Amino acid sequence: MITTNPFDDDKLREECGVFGIWDADGAAAVVALGLHALQHRGQEAAGITSFDGHDFHSHRAMGHVAGTFDKDGVIRSLAGRVACGHVRYSTTGETALRNVQPLFAELSSGGFAVAHNGNISNALTLRRELVRRGSIFQSTSDTEVIIHLVATSTYRTLLDRFVDALKQVEGAYSLICMTPEGMIACRDPLGIRPLVMGRLGDSVIFASETVALDVVGAEHMRDVEPGEIVIVDASGMRSVRPFSRVNPRPCIFEHVYFSRPDSIVGGNSIYSVRKAIGAELAVEAPVDADLVIPVPDSGVPAAIGYAQQSGVPFELGIIRSHYVGRTFIQPGDQIRHLGVKLKHNANRALIQGKRVILIDDSIVRGTTSLKIVQMMRDAGATEVHMRIASPPTRHSCFYGVDTPERSKLLAAVHDIQGMAEFIHADSLAFVSINGLYKAVGEARRADVRPQYCDACFTGDYPTRLTDQDALDCTDQLALTAERVM
Ligand code: AMP
Repeated sequence: MITTNPFDDDKLREECGVFGIWDADGAAAVVALGLHALQHRGQEAAGITSFDGHDFHSHRAMGHVAGTFDKDGVIRSLAGRVACGHVRYSTTGETALRNVQPLFAELSSGGFAVAHNGNISNALTLRRELVRRGSIFQSTSDTEVIIHLVATSTYRTLLDRFVDALKQVEGAYSLICMTPEGMIACRDPLGIRPLVMGRLGDSVIFASETVALDVVGAEHMRDVEPGEIVIVDASGMRSVRPFSRVNPRPCIFEHVYFSRPDSIVGGNSIYSVRKAIGAELAVEAPVDADLVIPVPDSGVPAAIGYAQQSGVPFELGIIRSHYVGRTFIQPGDQIRHLGVKLKHNANRALIQGKRVILIDDSIVRGTTSLKIVQMMRDAGATEVHMRIASPPTRHSCFYGVDTPERSKLLAAVHDIQGMAEFIHADSLAFVSINGLYKAVGEARRADVRPQYCDACFTGDYPTRLTDQDALDCTDQLALTAERVM
């Protein structure tokens, strides 16, 4: 998402979930339920578009799924047996509403709606060229680039125009599109973001995660494969694979943090993987202590794994209020700090006089860890050891996970000892990249290209970063100009 958000520190930002259903009674209501199960993927805006055989209907708003789609008459206004929807992390205020998805346009072939999870890493470059050729953009979203590329393609059929468009974009995209004829779902050739298929009676469903299938009682059929385009229409379901085959690189951070623990991603139970990461961490970074305490909720499965492997008792030493959103997702440093205090409280009676091992899934800016370590000390802990169920996050993500610019990543500016000092922990350790791969079930071999996108940990980006390179180049030019002046 390319935004004009004042909180944005000029970085790309998007975290999303998508859900679509083909041929169901009350399709929009099913989509609302599915989006509700995907709310963790984006909490600031939601939208649904439906098609009733003649017209498209759309409702998009800032805010949660409940609260938007439970309002009187909203679901009723979204008539039709086909619908798709989107939840998104976004900016606040009126200016952002135009970016809320699904995006919709009238093309020469008819209406075209698109819901996108991911981030197109050459969107700015493509957009500049499209604008130069006369395209008029309605939003600042990277997703709109796809619509303009489809609209201006010279191929004859919509599918060919869609493929032509996708061959020009780089980065991550799991898409659900609607046309008057059918529903199209696809994943980028690297399969960076997830997308699954399910069945509910005779209806076909596409969703970011299997939890969204569970919530509506649908059966999980399979993943949409990297580079696959699935088309569902009146003649049935078919799939095409128009891209040259590449080694898939699904995002490993989905396993670490992003997906819900009750989801199955790439055939793996997220809960089991997180426990296995915790067990691996206990082997790699043991410490003599009295209690293993998760930072809730994201650290819980890894803490269970750590405790089981180490034999150190697992206890709930921090209680989380469920009425505050994810700390990380609230813009602005002031609110982020306030959020952490509102969200977690020490279970003082348990902590007093104990040596504790805190387990969290990741350290990004270090804000959460700093507060939680202090909270343990204030509650009387005699030693606080921090163990992290992912390697140090040293690089920004350009594929649809919200990470700050590099200079704000604690691990990019400190070594481990420096990080431990920053968060005031007695010791700090991270699971190794090999340990992480082992836990997700694929040992990392030096002679095989990595099976996942792990760029946030390694800096090994699986695509070109065309826009980022252009920005870096502009910064360089600005610096040179400054020096010359
Ligand atoms: P920080 O306080 O900046 O170090 O953020 C770390 C906390 O944010 C951890 O407890 C994670 O569970 C959570 N987190 C990590 N990555 C993300 C993300 N992309 N979006 C939202 N929360 C995240």
